[in-house]
Amino acid sequence: MGVKVCKFGGSSLADAAQIQKAKEIIQSDPDRRYIVASAPGKRSSEDQKITDLFYLCHAHAKQGIAFDEVFKLIADRYQGIVADLGLDLDLTAHLEKTQQDIAAGASEDYAASRGEFLNGPIIAASLGYEFIDPAEVIFFDGSGRFDAEKTQEVLSERLSKIERAVVPGFFGSLPDGQIKTFSRGGSDITGAIVARAAGADVYENWTDVSGLLRTDPRIVDQPQTIDTLTYRELRELAYMGASVMHDEAIFPVRAAGIPINIRNTNAPEHPGTLIVAQTDAQVSAGCITGIAGRKDFTVLAIEKTLMNTEMGFGRRILEVLEVNGVSFEHMPSGIDTMSIVIADSELEGKVNKVVEEIKMAVKPDNVSVYPNMALIATVGQGMAHSLGVSAKLFGSLSEAGVNIRMIDQGSSEMNIIVGVEASDFEKAVQAIYAAFVGA
Ligand code: ADP
Ligand code: ASP
Ligand code: MG
Repeated sequence: MGVKVCKFGGSSLADAAQIQKAKEIIQSDPDRRYIVASAPGKRSSEDQKITDLFYLCHAHAKQGIAFDEVFKLIADRYQGIVADLGLDLDLTAHLEKTQQDIAAGASEDYAASRGEFLNGPIIAASLGYEFIDPAEVIFFDGSGRFDAEKTQEVLSERLSKIERAVVPGFFGSLPDGQIKTFSRGGSDITGAIVARAAGADVYENWTDVSGLLRTDPRIVDQPQTIDTLTYRELRELAYMGASVMHDEAIFPVRAAGIPINIRNTNAPEHPGTLIVAQTDAQVSAGCITGIAGRKDFTVLAIEKTLMNTEMGFGRRILEVLEVNGVSFEHMPSGIDTMSIVIADSELEGKVNKVVEEIKMAVKPDNVSVYPNMALIATVGQGMAHSLGVSAKLFGSLSEAGVNIRMIDQGSSEMNIIVGVEASDFEKAVQAIYAAFVGA
């Protein structure tokens, strides 16, 4: 018998009808033995994710505000799902304990993790699979970093004794037993960790779109599905904003050479997207793999005549960032100019201080700050050095009237990143898509 690890995202488990679809998918293939489940997500665009409601409960509790009403929304969702599925399962004690723990000052991570923790038994009961508490098998070290080695050892041992199980996504435990979550969307990471520990033939990631699309479907109407791409391309696209998959979910499966298959719970017959170590698709000029982007960046543009001859210039600037605890995304440079692209979340409340310290450290001719920037990555194996590709990319933006503030080709040879004003973001993505893929 083979092994498939299947992660189902929040929208795939948002209500009883969605869970029923997931169950049919799982039961249609006996190899689908280990299921990683998210918390119930949105049932419609106006709906709330259970995880967001838990964060809200915690925020209220922290400020001493009553959160009974929000908690009741959560409890009603779970009880409704159990009733609609006709399960013989009573979550009352679990729900009461969770509410008490949050009221008594439990951590934010603990509160957030309960979305998955409470959904796990529901999915396990509806499938007749065993439930595994991630706190017992997924570990973080003392500094809060994921402990891959210990997790692999304990989890693979545990799975070797269980033929079929449900593992809630998104969290594990610290050495002192406290709950720790991954960053948002982290159930994708749990899925990859379980796939590695199970020695899976494939890691199936079931979501609400038919695979990784060439760009964000909220920006371009019905973009093409990417049939096959490499882990590296997925990493670039996911990191730059293709939010269908958490960018850190790639590492556990890549290390073990396990392919990822992104599939649609609402269209299970669609083969979706396959992610592998190498593809033999020859990338011709004009053909790219995908486009992804994110807003909320600031660019610091530093100018100084003859900066290229000044020893330690870059180091002194980076030192200022380091001392201020700011990490940067990109640093394209010219002869007398250097731009530093920084996510706004890193710079919050620190812009003026950082600029002043840069001025003191390197005495530049000028430092300009460009807020409200968006980055757009156009990704494809080996495309960066193709003249045709760059010309087409920049041409499409200029035709659309988009002003390019920054260009970074990176050294990976498969990625051209442009910085544009946030207000031009959607227009720019649409223009690049139309130029390479078609209207
Ligand atoms: P899940 O709840 O299954 O984890 P997510 O909401 O995290 O699902 O991810 C799926 C969503 O990602 C899609 O509905 C889509 O709106 C968004 N998305 C953004 N970029 C892309 C892309 N390039 N391909 C597919 N989906 C994308
Ligand atoms: N439920 C968590 C979140 O909303 C994790 C996940 O869905 O992957 O971020
Ligand atoms: Mg997700």
